Amino acid sequence: MDDWDVAIVGGGILGTSIAYWVASRYDGRIAVLEREARVGEHASRRNTGVVHRPFYLHPTRARTFARASQVSYGLWKRYAAERKLPWSAVGTLKVARVEEEVKALEENLQFAAANGMDPKEVELLDGRDVAKLEPNVACAAALHAKTDTVVDYGALTEAVRADAEALGVRFLTHFPVDAVEANPYGVVLMAGAYRPWVRTRFLLNCAGGEAVRLAHEAGVATEYADLHFRGDYWIVGAEAGGLVGRNVYTVPRHPDLPFLDPHWVVRVDGRREIGPNAVPVPGPYAYEGLFRHAPGWAARAFEPPAGNKLRFALSRTFLTLSAREMVSALSRGEMSRRVQRFIPRLREGDLVARGFAGIRANVVDRRGGLVKEAIEVAGPRSYHILNYNSPGATGAPAYGAYLVDRLAARGDLDHLGKNTKSRSPWTWESVAGPMGLAS
Ligand SMILES: Cc1cc2nc3c(=O)[nH]c(=O)nc-3n(C[C@H](O)[C@H](O)[C@H](O)COP(=O)(O)OP(=O)(O)OC[C@H]3O[C@@H](n4cnc5c(N)ncnc54)[C@H](O)[C@@H]3O)c2cc1C
Repeated sequence: MDDWDVAIVGGGILGTSIAYWVASRYDGRIAVLEREARVGEHASRRNTGVVHRPFYLHPTRARTFARASQVSYGLWKRYAAERKLPWSAVGTLKVARVEEEVKALEENLQFAAANGMDPKEVELLDGRDVAKLEPNVACAAALHAKTDTVVDYGALTEAVRADAEALGVRFLTHFPVDAVEANPYGVVLMAGAYRPWVRTRFLLNCAGGEAVRLAHEAGVATEYADLHFRGDYWIVGAEAGGLVGRNVYTVPRHPDLPFLDPHWVVRVDGRREIGPNAVPVPGPYAYEGLFRHAPGWAARAFEPPAGNKLRFALSRTFLTLSAREMVSALSRGEMSRRVQRFIPRLREGDLVARGFAGIRANVVDRRGGLVKEAIEVAGPRSYHILNYNSPGATGAPAYGAYLVDRLAARGDLDHLGKNTKSRSPWTWESVAGPMGLAS
């Protein structure tokens, strides 16, 4: 048995950032267990790639995420410059297609100020001003978020892994944790054929699409179920790619389901894509096809707690999703029609190929509702982060520090020695004040 003081399951952008902070604050044997060959292979690479400024996050209801986004922006910006990783401040237009939607943009302007953004970074434009900036965008008004930036989160995660390794963290890749068993000596993490198994004095579950399953394995969070939604992207051909130079998002038609409306996305290599949509799929790795997953659904539907999913299936939210989203997932025409609402010159034939897909794991509560914020659940010798969704990649460095502060306050890291190692690239002091951390 391989013994560790802290084992983090999940080498996504969150688990990797947390590993960095634990190792920069404490001495001890720290491991990250990752099922894939490299870090950041799932949601952390397969996303829109935007460093989101927090103009759309409610300053009190989404307080931790709003702060994490605001603080992490500066951390990522300096980090990308130091490590010579791509950083392209293309900006985002969030458009109101009709007058009735403009008040949502006005509210966003207030959120931006409350979340500490400089007033020069966001500007409310009327339709004519938008046309001067982006002649092919049609709308009643738009919020121009000038510092929204596109990056390669996969490359950022790999760079943070290298920094965590320099502080002594070990990354055990190809380690797919199947089962979790707490005993008086620690928590044992079992992984099928992989040997040796791991025993840890403390487990941190950052397993993204499998976080709920692992929490259930550890006997906690049993009131929650999860559902997985695949978001597909389409690549826009080079000629039509010149239509718009910024990201374009819309005021969500269903505020409870903001991930339903596709965006016009500028990728860090300059390509343009549209997406993502949101198609229910039966698991965290169902990246291709739709109907081939039918057997998977039968198994998932009856997983406990089945009542959550049943109530979700009967909810208006699900009816909206299933009928509309399934059709659009299969249809390039429907995706292009949605984007034509704000870029009328885009044609179906401009979507030349499918891009990659990313999968979002959404927690469903007892009432059958999709939970909006990240959830933290403490277990015996363990802590579990569920529902860590967008803008999770943006906020990972500061959110990771916030979690380490939480664990320290609970005494979960008392078995580790205090660290005297040099800290690079991020200092605790630069995060603690703005995040309101205790230590
Ligand atoms: C389509 C889409 C677009 C998005 N766009 C943006 C965006 O533009 N900007 C933004 O800020 N955020 C965005 N997000 C959200 C962001 O990508 C996520 O919040 C973030 O990547 C979550 O990071 P994570 O480390 O928690 O999860 P993941 O990256 O999924 O990492 C979890 C890791 O755990 C590993 N793992 C899982 N189970 C096990 C196991 N049993 N044993 C061992 N390892 C395991 C997985 O292999 C994976 O590497 C988007 C998300 C999606 C799905």
